[in-house]
Amino acid sequence: MERVRFAPSPTGPLHIGGLRTAIFNYLYARKHKGAFILRVEDTDLNRYVEGSERYIQESLEWCGMVPDEGPFNGGSLGPYRQSERKSIYLEYIQILLAKGKAYYAFDSTDELSAARSLAELQGETFRYGAHNRANFVNSLTLNENEIEERKKGDYVIRLKVDPGAIISVFDEVRGTVSVATDELDDKVLMKSDGMPTYHFANVVDDYLMKITCVIRGEEWLPSLPHHQLLYNAFDWKSPKFMHLPLILKPNGKGKLSKRDGDKDGFPVFPLQWKDNVGFKEKGFLPESMVNYLVLLGWNSGKEDEFFTLSELEGLFSVSGVQKGGARFDYEKARWINHQHLLKKTPQELLTLEAFKLALNNFSFDQKFKIATIIKDRLYTLDDIQEEVKIFNTPYPFDNDAIEKLLPKNPLQVLQKAESILNSGEHTVALKETLLDWAKKQSISVGVLMQSLRIALVGKLTGPDLFDIIEILGNSVSLLRIKNAISYINLKQKS
Ligand code: GLU
Repeated sequence: MERVRFAPSPTGPLHIGGLRTAIFNYLYARKHKGAFILRVEDTDLNRYVEGSERYIQESLEWCGMVPDEGPFNGGSLGPYRQSERKSIYLEYIQILLAKGKAYYAFDSTDELSAARSLAELQGETFRYGAHNRANFVNSLTLNENEIEERKKGDYVIRLKVDPGAIISVFDEVRGTVSVATDELDDKVLMKSDGMPTYHFANVVDDYLMKITCVIRGEEWLPSLPHHQLLYNAFDWKSPKFMHLPLILKPNGKGKLSKRDGDKDGFPVFPLQWKDNVGFKEKGFLPESMVNYLVLLGWNSGKEDEFFTLSELEGLFSVSGVQKGGARFDYEKARWINHQHLLKKTPQELLTLEAFKLALNNFSFDQKFKIATIIKDRLYTLDDIQEEVKIFNTPYPFDNDAIEKLLPKNPLQVLQKAESILNSGEHTVALKETLLDWAKKQSISVGVLMQSLRIALVGKLTGPDLFDIIEILGNSVSLLRIKNAISYINLKQKS
């Protein structure tokens, strides 16, 4: 059975890049009828941000991707928070020490910074490894007694990388990645605070949680040879690896950051975090979020780009994952959201909070009809307010439009409409009666419609006018026409 994990660090809100990684993991799991696991990588106590773990879980739930196993969902291979797995790491580091694959290093921070500065002076990047580990204070250079004595103080445990070999790892997206072990440092596996480093905890947990494919961002690709060395050191079979391409800024230059969102006015978080509104609050449907994000680095091979979550669960394939960076495009995200809104029935739309709020004052029949006629005008749920406004009031009138209409005698049209509605004619018949009349009077359809539109909704844009009139009903339409007549009369006198 395939098992994948999304392994965020709770250092703040989930960025859409992180959410994209979660989506790929989730889809991979569903496609293979496997398990989607949430693992919280909270070994860096200094970077822990209160509330971020909940935020991550809520973001996943909002998208409809409830983990099969995780800190909030339980599971048999937990605990799913690394901070609760300390004893496991201690047990596994002992195995590496016993095998001679890891060693204690007692160098002080000062000693290490001195060595770093010296290397920099010589124009080199400092690396603690096979070529210089003999010059440092570690369990490879000290005798038994010295080691025991030193272990009473602070120390770290490092991976012993043997030189002279080539380490090759296969990435499902990029193919084989090879590095000479001479290039690799002896990575710290256990820190002086007794916590494991990301590299060590990650490998131990992926093994113990029976992860079959590691799907994560491209930024982790350079760590892959070290991870492979750890699998080798334990004599474990490594999982498959898939590194997802970077999400690029809208201009394609560099990695997308929160600053880009602040600058261009788009969210970078799925849900509200402190003062930052998320996609949800901006009026995006969760299914649009998932659909848009999966397109950042994956191609279905089909022309169509519009997919529901369940369609994606069947369609997703590793072969569609691209290598090159994917440019973030907010307008496209809005377009995808628009497509998802269009697909919804009025009944479905009316279950959404934004619709409920905006249409609170209307009868069920009106709500249904309003939802029907405005949905193709919505890009985000935020647009509802503006679209619904015209059903509440036609004011303020668009005066520029009225000024332009005045020479074309809009009153003539409005008075006719008034008399038809006054005679009690049903709004449904109004259109035909008016069009016939206008034809006989040689009044253009344009003038007819513009005059009525200004009177009924105050401006020249909006959904089909006769649909609006039908929703408003005879008496409200009549009242609006009468008010517009008075307004235009006053305007003409002034
Ligand atoms: N904790 C790492 C992160 O926050 C996870 C990397 C991985 O998936 O291995 O990105």
